[in-house]
Amino acid sequence: MTVLELNNINAFYGQSQALHDISIEVQAGEFVTILGANGAGKSTIMKTIMGLVKAKSGGIVFNGQDITDLPPWERAGIGVGYVPEGRRVFPDLTVEENLKMGAYRVQDNRRIANNLDKSYELFPRLKERRSQLAKTMSGGEQQMLAIARALMLNPKLLLIDEISMGLMPILVNHSLSIVKRLNSEGLTVLMVEQNANKALKVADRGYILKTGKITMHDSSENLRNNSEVVKAYLGE
Ligand code: ATP
Repeated sequence: MTVLELNNINAFYGQSQALHDISIEVQAGEFVTILGANGAGKSTIMKTIMGLVKAKSGGIVFNGQDITDLPPWERAGIGVGYVPEGRRVFPDLTVEENLKMGAYRVQDNRRIANNLDKSYELFPRLKERRSQLAKTMSGGEQQMLAIARALMLNPKLLLIDEISMGLMPILVNHSLSIVKRLNSEGLTVLMVEQNANKALKVADRGYILKTGKITMHDSSENLRNNSEVVKAYLGE
């Protein structure tokens, strides 16, 4: 079953075109990555899927529903979870308040409590620090918080914008292993990433994005063995 389909998306900032004819699809249970350099348009793709940037043309289908014109909060409500670049936690709220903000659309207190328990089980560190202000958490802890917050609405698809940004390699590995675990438990993941090496180790498939255009897509294994990809994105 196809969870997400982007069909020929074109997006602009003013006169400048950031996305050119982007078509991507993600199947249920897959872990898909989009790789690209600085400014390639990775964040713009995430924002377009979330409805924070409006596509000028093209369509987006989520679980069989055309969501091209839905506002962002409705997309979140039907199961699109989003971990933005740079984490963007609420700095002056505690860890637990941040998590509850993630569930702001949920009326059912029991569901909120269950999801809090699940977050704390997944991230014991957040439980220890539940009363700490988010701004005083380390970068890695804030990344965990941003992921846990996105899970509070029980998403069917998790969008992750550059999990590796500003994190030490060991914390990147830790965050990725948690996302991989969520994926192996059934969560569909679409992750944009600059760190191709790490992303291709966890993802099933990848798309290469270059100045707003998809230039290649293949299994992670084939991309890792593609000399062009190795030269441009994997280094020596
Ligand atoms: P990075 O890895 O540096 O975050 P990215 O691949 O996520 O890069 P985007 O942030 O999607 O890239 O940016 C794609 C292009 O759109 C860039 O040329 C960028 O300068 C431009 N752009 C992004 N946001 C805006 C904006 N709000 N207004 C105007 N131009 C923008």
